[in-house]
Amino acid sequence: MDNLSNKVILVTGASKGIGAEVAKKLAEAKASVIVNYAGSKAEADSVVETIKNNGGNAIAIQADVSKAGEVKSLFDQAIAHYGKIDVLVNNAGIMITKLIKDTTDDDFTRQFDINVRGVFNTLREAATRLADNGSVINLSTSVNRLMLPTYGTYVATKSAVEQLTRVFSKEVGNRGINVNSVSPGPTNTALFTTGKPQEVIDRLASLSPFNRIGEPNDIAGVIVFLASDDAKWINAQNIGVNGGMA
Ligand code: NDP
Repeated sequence: MDNLSNKVILVTGASKGIGAEVAKKLAEAKASVIVNYAGSKAEADSVVETIKNNGGNAIAIQADVSKAGEVKSLFDQAIAHYGKIDVLVNNAGIMITKLIKDTTDDDFTRQFDINVRGVFNTLREAATRLADNGSVINLSTSVNRLMLPTYGTYVATKSAVEQLTRVFSKEVGNRGINVNSVSPGPTNTALFTTGKPQEVIDRLASLSPFNRIGEPNDIAGVIVFLASDDAKWINAQNIGVNGGMA
């Protein structure tokens, strides 16, 4: 498959989990990929190495998406290297699950700084610097459709991401840019599995009629499609990718 040849795609938080899988699959479709990471340099370098070993094209660039100056520098470096950015995948995110009564000011600030301000920072750059006829894909969550105790602050951040998605689509549509969000269900990454007893994972898996949680590959294929011109007429939508969980 080479339907993304000539496209330059920035994936935030691509050192691990869903983002790493997205980066590899985009490169298989012949996109040139910018593998952004915050702290996990070795993992990001390993994603780039895997892509290059398979004949693809990628570079790793460090930037904390919650810092506006670092995001500007991320765009500067990516455009200096590849000449343009066609597609932005806003994947970087964290999840802190606590009852609202136990959530500290720091928990709240960290989640909003990375999940919401991070997306805001990249959208603000993308508004003028993403290439005409490009695409934006933001990561939300299918947990927004449930009402699970302990997910309050997390779904507050992802609901904000969905609203930014819709409004941004109206602001950049005149340049041919389509903007969507993808809402994975529980997916087998450190973000979801860390600290969870197997019985909790099994209970969440049983919410899907397929009786399993997702794998990063289940999510990545949909993002590759949304990054392609075949998905151009999908705009301002939120797409659940959750095995029918919700
Ligand atoms: P992981 O924890 O596996 O990976 C998170 C990635 O985000 C890492 O590459 C990490 O890089 C990066 N990251 C974290 N903070 C920052 C930052 N400030 N700046 C730049 N990069 C950062 O998470 P997942 O792959 O599971 O999640 C990816 C996205 O999917 C998130 O937005 C998440 O909310 C969403 N999602 C996940 C679900 C799941 O069940 N796994 C379900 C629904 C949505 P580094 O290590 O270098 O900091």
